[in-house]
Amino acid sequence: MISRERMDFGKFWQEGLTLIEGCTPTSPGCLHCWGQAQTHLRAQQRGNPKVIARYEGLTNSHGKFNGKIRIMESALDRPVRKRKGIVYAIWNDLFHEDVPTEFIKRTWTMMTANQKHIFIVTTKRPQRAVEFARRHQLPHLPNLWFLGTTEDQARWEERYRWIQKFSAAQVRGAIIEPILGDVRLTGVDPALMSWIIVGVETGQRRRRIDMRHVWNVARQTQEMSMLLWVKTIDNEGTLIHDISRMPSGLQVHNLPAMDAQHQTDLGLF
Ligand code: SF4
Repeated sequence: MISRERMDFGKFWQEGLTLIEGCTPTSPGCLHCWGQAQTHLRAQQRGNPKVIARYEGLTNSHGKFNGKIRIMESALDRPVRKRKGIVYAIWNDLFHEDVPTEFIKRTWTMMTANQKHIFIVTTKRPQRAVEFARRHQLPHLPNLWFLGTTEDQARWEERYRWIQKFSAAQVRGAIIEPILGDVRLTGVDPALMSWIIVGVETGQRRRRIDMRHVWNVARQTQEMSMLLWVKTIDNEGTLIHDISRMPSGLQVHNLPAMDAQHQTDLGLF
């Protein structure tokens, strides 16, 4: 069940499922990547061989991902062991260029066999995802939410078409986080991409932005009758996660439609 408290703090998933450790920064939104910071921190925790084996060698001396990745084979078994449905967010980028074909196929097999769960795949590489899905004929999954991540107009233009073309997922959407500038949702077809998630950057070195960019995204989703989830905002320098502390026009947490069983499992009834 997703607790009300968790949702009110902007989280639309219950558990992270880390299938890939490591990544290659690919656009301005990667600068303060949370996964990168966590990996670097954990790699410093000497003494625990399991932790070292998992995180060591994936970041450089400046704490940035160095392009190496590590496949977490054993994580594929975790959803199988759960009795009740869970909303899993898959970390890091499953469509990173170096993730082997066979591993992506096995992930699809696992998601297909575990329909009681919902899986969220987020990627900054929707083009690779679309081309991969076509080449390997990945089946459509009713329990898959596919979210392409963007952060500014240039990245929106580069990625939204590919997100809309990813036909192997029941839900397609875009995460605009950290939003770094004004984003006009040009070209979006709400029939092909129904959900927008928007949030500001978090963390100690977060980049401040003009909150009008968040309001503009919210207004555009309303005009196009799209689903919207406002994850975080900046209120004159204060980072706000708690939806009850946001202006009423941004107190929006829409989830995609799901069947009755998933709603029950998630505690949404
Ligand atoms: S693509 Fe995602 S996981 Fe990879 S560095 Fe960028 S933000 Fe981090």
